Amino acid sequence: MERYFTFSAYCRQNCGRKLYRVCLDAGMTCPNRDGTLGSRGCIFCDEGGSGDFAIPYHGQKLALTDLIFNHQDAKEGDYIAYFQSYTNTYAPIEKLRSLFSAALADPLFAGISIGTRPDCLGKDVLALLKELKQTYPQKFIWCELGLQTIHEETAVWMRRGYALPVFDETVQALHELEIPVIVHCILGFPQETEAMAVQTMEHLNALKIDGIKLQLLQYLAGTDLGAIYQEDKEKLHVMDLEEYVHEIVQCIGHLDPSIAIHRLTGDANGELLLAPLWSRDKKKVLNMIRHEMKEENIVQGSLEEK
Ligand code: SF4
Repeated sequence: MERYFTFSAYCRQNCGRKLYRVCLDAGMTCPNRDGTLGSRGCIFCDEGGSGDFAIPYHGQKLALTDLIFNHQDAKEGDYIAYFQSYTNTYAPIEKLRSLFSAALADPLFAGISIGTRPDCLGKDVLALLKELKQTYPQKFIWCELGLQTIHEETAVWMRRGYALPVFDETVQALHELEIPVIVHCILGFPQETEAMAVQTMEHLNALKIDGIKLQLLQYLAGTDLGAIYQEDKEKLHVMDLEEYVHEIVQCIGHLDPSIAIHRLTGDANGELLLAPLWSRDKKKVLNMIRHEMKEENIVQGSLEEK
């Protein structure tokens, strides 16, 4: 029995079975990359737009044999089309309608999960999502928003390009459409303390998000953050394993138990990873998190102030 609300448990509760993401690269770009907001991207984002293992997707029918990671016990209908690379609502509406409709119509998928930015979910996109929900009532639509932190100073440092109220309003708008919201957060920003990370969790509790992906700040080759690290390894504090485990356990303890935890470790391309190298051993990280939760007698939400 896990001490936190796992993604598998969420899937079983809501869909009656375990589901697996298939990462898709729909050839999008990002306002933080195409010059609209910036051209260098978020400070930690690599050229793949956080989608290094994604299947190129242009609306083609996918079969089990097309999948990069095939799960032995999974069959058609046990997968989620995860639009992962770059900003997947940053394109003309007709293109989005065609891509999302194709994935929703594909029997391989139980639903779609759209990775995007809250400032790229305007009224037209929200209207499209509402329309798709009505057209494919047997499938689900989730949105994954890259927030990383609620703290403005960090957001400016990482060049996120939007302010917190934009995120808050978008979560509200998605809730009104009954679209579950999964939020991506990063722990280990050099300028953030554990208490600041916990404040991010408390903010997300108040917004009643549905899911969260927690991961550590990873320094990758080919990113501006990686370049700072390569120039001077001492310039920024890189979290060690014990620090990460302690902080993430505190975050889980402060996270509302209704929020499903989709991820607890980093997921970077191992070849590009410069630091912290311990994050390659995901199994060890997960085991240490479970161990500390047990030792400290912490379960998800047990540290929340009521
Ligand atoms: S918003 Fe996402 S895709 Fe765009 S630069 Fe930032 S991390 Fe990369």
